[in-house]
Amino acid sequence: MKLKNAVFAALAAVCACGCVREDDNAIRMITEATFPPYEFLRGQEIVGIDVEICRAVAKTLGKEFKCETVDFDSVIPAVISRKADLAAAGITITEDRKKNVDFSDPYVRTGIVMIYKKSAPYAKAEDAKGKRVGVQGGTTSETYVLEQLGQEPERFRSPAEAVAGLKAGRVEFVLADIDPAKNCVKGEDDLAISDFVTSEEYAVAIRKGQPELLKAINDTIARVKADGSLAKWIAQYTEEADKLKEK
Ligand code: GLN
Repeated sequence: MKLKNAVFAALAAVCACGCVREDDNAIRMITEATFPPYEFLRGQEIVGIDVEICRAVAKTLGKEFKCETVDFDSVIPAVISRKADLAAAGITITEDRKKNVDFSDPYVRTGIVMIYKKSAPYAKAEDAKGKRVGVQGGTTSETYVLEQLGQEPERFRSPAEAVAGLKAGRVEFVLADIDPAKNCVKGEDDLAISDFVTSEEYAVAIRKGQPELLKAINDTIARVKADGSLAKWIAQYTEEADKLKEK
C-alpha cells in the first residue's frame, strides 16, 4: 500500500521547474510543496525558501536547477534512490534520519506547535492525550504523537488537510511545524496555536558519502545567511503564502 502511494505520488507530482531525471548538468531538488512558506505552489510553479536555497546551491555548482514535489514520506527515499540530489522540505534533522542521509548545516531553528479550537484550548501535552491528533504523515509531528503521547495519530497529506480535518471535527488537535501552522490558522478566527512543543532545525538532506556536494551546500547556506538573502526570502515568501491563504 505504501509503495502504491509512493508510485501514485511520483506520477501525480507537479513538475513546475522541470522534470527530475538523472542529469549530470543539473541539480535536482525533491520537495513536498504543501509547506508554506518553505515550499508551496504559485499556480503550477513550486516556490519558497527551500527552493531558493537549493537554486543557490545549483548556482554555486554552475549547474541547471530542477525541482519536483512528492508526498513528504517519499522525499528522503528519493535522494537515497538517486531520483534527486537535494531533499529540502522543511526537513528536521533527527538522529533516525541521520542513519540514512547526510544533513547540511542547519538553516533555520524552528519547532512544532499544536493547532486547536479556541473552544477546546490546549496548554500541555496531557490535554491531547487520548484525543484524536492530526498530523502530516512521515513528519516529526507524527513521531511526537507516537512516542511522546503514546498513541496513533490521524495521518493527512498536508498540514492544511489536517486543519480541514480539525474544522470538520475529524480530529480534536493538529500538530504541525510553526510556519505552516501559522499560515493555516490565518483568517480562521476559531483556531489558535500553542507555544513550541519541540525545538527543531531544518537542513538539506543528501545521499550519504558526497563530501563535495555537502561542502557546496554548507558554503551556500553560510553565504545566504551572511548576505541577507535568507532573511529576505523568509520575509518575501511568508508574505506571499499569507496572501495566497487570504484569497
Ligand atoms: N519538519 C517536519 C519534519 O521534518 C515537517 C516537514 C514537512 O512536513 N514538510 O518532519
